[in-house]
Amino acid sequence: TTPDEENIRPRILLMGLRRSGKSSISKVVFQKMQPNETLFLESSNKIMKENVSNSAFVDFELWDLPGQIDFFDPSFDADVVFGVRGSLIFIIDAQDDYIEALHKLHTTVTKAFKINTNIKFEVFIHKVDGLTEDNKIETQRDIHQRAIDDLSDSGYDQLHLNFHLTSIYDHSIFEAFSKVVQRLTFHLPFIENLLNLLISNSAIEKAFLYDVVSKMYIATDSSPVDMQSYELCCDMIDVVIDISWIYGVKDDAENSAFDDNSASVIKLNDGTVLYFREVGHYLAVVCILREDDFERRGIITYNVLCFRKAMQLLFELMAKKKNEESEYSNK
Ligand code: GDP
Repeated sequence: TTPDEENIRPRILLMGLRRSGKSSISKVVFQKMQPNETLFLESSNKIMKENVSNSAFVDFELWDLPGQIDFFDPSFDADVVFGVRGSLIFIIDAQDDYIEALHKLHTTVTKAFKINTNIKFEVFIHKVDGLTEDNKIETQRDIHQRAIDDLSDSGYDQLHLNFHLTSIYDHSIFEAFSKVVQRLTFHLPFIENLLNLLISNSAIEKAFLYDVVSKMYIATDSSPVDMQSYELCCDMIDVVIDISWIYGVKDDAENSAFDDNSASVIKLNDGTVLYFREVGHYLAVVCILREDDFERRGIITYNVLCFRKAMQLLFELMAKKKNEESEYSNK
């Protein structure tokens, strides 16, 4: 039987030259390591595999591949590595001379594309914290141009690369990873649509669906995302979790205080209100709205509960599909 694509756990591959920042990214985003602790990470020459399983949407295998990997080495089985649904993230150190990295990018993505044309290709132009604003834009333009030219010169016009400027020293790495995960999410249009309905019926300015553990956003409404709003909501999640841990500990220490009923409102001096509501296992909706509009709090709460109900129906459908699939494959 061929399993339904939707039920296959996707795989995210981290690739790039040695010291480009692969292990730092995986440690900072998924293991909560502080960015400055990554200075002393040991380089590894093995493929490091990790299961990331936080919530219904952040559920994948993360593979960190060593920089010196040689595709022509017979012990490297490219069919196995690239042969499943997922993303390939190629990391380029923007503080270093990137010509060699661009060569490696080209050989890597073309090799993977020959095996699996459905892989999503993402390029992180990384460590941009060391660059000035002008320099960032110029570096991105140059890397983008050269990478695309190399591909079209060798006839790979259908191979699409997505570019992101990233650094582990700010929220950009979380934002970029959010986009990577979103491209792998089957129900994204449905969730986006629900968020659009939610904001337009509640006078909310912006709404994000967050994976609380990794602080990635799984979806947002269709108004543009500005980095500041994203950071504000990330900070709010930190506050809610910290307060839950300090004041909400139950008798049973195994039970976290963050549960089905977690909700919070923060009012800022500038008249902005942040509204947080848990909507599923380690998933929360975080909304930004004006204080005046928050006077109709009853309607907003009601609409958020409707959103939550719709999400719960989606989870039930997803679970049902998974069960049917496993029954079918056991036959
Ligand atoms: P790997 O060999 O690709 O796994 O690279 P590492 O994760 O070991 O990172 C190599 C070095 O780059 C480490 O000293 C990190 O602290 C540093 N690094 C990683 N990400 C960033 C970043 O965003 N900005 C800066 N300035 N340094 C970074």
